[in-house]
Amino acid sequence: MSEPIHYPVAIVGAGPAGLSLANLLGVYCVPCVLVERNAATVNEPRAVSIDDESLRTMQAAGLVDEVVAETVTGYGSHYYSARGRCFAKVQPTEQPYGFPRRNAFRQPILERQLRDALARFAHVTPLFQHELIGFAQDAKGVTLRVRHDGGEREISCDYLVACDGASSTVRRQLGITLGGSTFRERWLIVDLENSPVTSPHTKVFSDPERPCIALPGPDLTRRYEFMLHDGERDEDMLAPEMVQHLLATHEAAPGSRIVRTVVYTFHARLAERWSEGRVYLAGDAAHLTPPFAGQGMNSGVRDAYNLAWKLAAVTRGTLGPGLLASYEPERRDHVWAMIEFALNIGRVMSPPNAFAAWMIEQGFRALALYPKARDYIMQMKFKPPPRFAKGFIVPDSESPRRTLVGRMFPQPRVRTADGGEARLDDVLGPGFAIVLRGARAEALVATLRAAPFAALKANIVVMRPEGDARAAPAGATVVHDIGPASPRVAELSDHIILLRPDRYVAACMTADALEQGAAKIGKLVAGTFAS
Ligand SMILES: Cc1cc2nc3c(=O)[nH]c(=O)nc-3n(C[C@H](O)[C@H](O)[C@H](O)COP(=O)(O)OP(=O)(O)OC[C@H]3O[C@@H](n4cnc5c(N)ncnc54)[C@H](O)[C@@H]3O)c2cc1C
Repeated sequence: MSEPIHYPVAIVGAGPAGLSLANLLGVYCVPCVLVERNAATVNEPRAVSIDDESLRTMQAAGLVDEVVAETVTGYGSHYYSARGRCFAKVQPTEQPYGFPRRNAFRQPILERQLRDALARFAHVTPLFQHELIGFAQDAKGVTLRVRHDGGEREISCDYLVACDGASSTVRRQLGITLGGSTFRERWLIVDLENSPVTSPHTKVFSDPERPCIALPGPDLTRRYEFMLHDGERDEDMLAPEMVQHLLATHEAAPGSRIVRTVVYTFHARLAERWSEGRVYLAGDAAHLTPPFAGQGMNSGVRDAYNLAWKLAAVTRGTLGPGLLASYEPERRDHVWAMIEFALNIGRVMSPPNAFAAWMIEQGFRALALYPKARDYIMQMKFKPPPRFAKGFIVPDSESPRRTLVGRMFPQPRVRTADGGEARLDDVLGPGFAIVLRGARAEALVATLRAAPFAALKANIVVMRPEGDARAAPAGATVVHDIGPASPRVAELSDHIILLRPDRYVAACMTADALEQGAAKIGKLVAGTFAS
């Protein structure tokens, strides 16, 4: 066999996690190879809900406009009792990260867009119809054995990321087991085209006899998901007359065309560890989330964003390889919180009996009497926020409830120097950024150009309120914050906020505390090079 071609990063699996990672590495100019056993991306509908955080990742990948063009943005969920009474509405209108919180999309279209977008990068090599059959690693790198066209070839890399789905070959070879909950449920999925149901919202029928979810999609598509009970056989439930019966009893008006019926078994599982040596697991290879909160794919896209900038910084030598050890601690708890979130939503969607259904309905009705509780539910504030308490961050002395460190920074719209409007991230650029708030910005820029910030090559952006017409200090960009306002950010009157490329806050300090803050950041950077 000839000498294997070497890449800094190899990705196995061209699902949403692997394709997102490949596109982000493309943006960060990291040469990489994407190995996928199938000839093309999936045709199965699978995920139908993409959230605001994933759309922000698509923005980072330079693809958000085309993704949004194929998406119905900003829909809600209405919960109905077995008697057909709507007892709860979740309809978020706030857009803290720059996009609507829930959006209907089609996984095959997104995957195709992500795959086509790889053509932008000469340094990203997609290899479809290539199956990973094994790998070996040592202290210097990883060698993949790949089957293609009846033969075998080797590919070598510094780091391997396994985005190879629920039955991950890589995870199995590493002997990593999936732990977690004993949850296991079968649901019948029916996808319709040309659906005359015009409601833009998800309808949840919390009916203990037959829990059902009806989800909107782009271009008159609609998905119905029916829970199957123990003892019901797949083949009986998939019979055309049974499918028609279920649709008819759940408001699926006639005239629509059935394009797919399938029974899926949903799990709630987490890999016991997410890496070994130079190999990292991401997406469904690392965790399985029941789809009730529409978060399985979204969690995988979060993994991709978390890993992408770290792999870029490490392979480029800007930060040391120790940085990659922060991946699992930053992601694991949040993924588990999302799994529990999905399980809790599942409990509301599928009450075990009529009494439980009645209790849930009454509980929501009672909560709706209190404006704060109503807002909490309506705005989906019960969704676990994107945050972590340990990782590549400098914790501050604020309480866990108030601190911005380890949280995703809001994304308001901003007015740029030429009078135009932009999303904040588009001004921050793809790398680290320092956001300065307060009157002393001018005096700070020179300090922020020196060590340790210089090592991070951070873009400095001064964020001022509308109407403050002072010119930009040399070496910085000025933008005016035109909202939506984030009350917590508005409180930062004289602050320096260090943002990572994935838009999480790495450090936040007042101008007076800059010296101590800089020392801590220097230690954090140096720590990635230690051992
Ligand atoms: C019915 C249903 C509804 C869902 N709804 C939602 C939703 O609304 N929102 C949401 O966020 N999520 C949802 N999900 C979950 C979502 O579809 C998955 O979480 C997502 O597809 C996982 O992406 P992935 O890239 O990690 O893995 P996958 O999409 O499984 O991709 C893995 C890829 O790896 C390839 N591969 C595997 N082994 C090898 C190998 N040895 N060599 C080369 N290639 C290999 C496979 O061919 C595949 O292309 C839903 C899932 C289902 C089933």
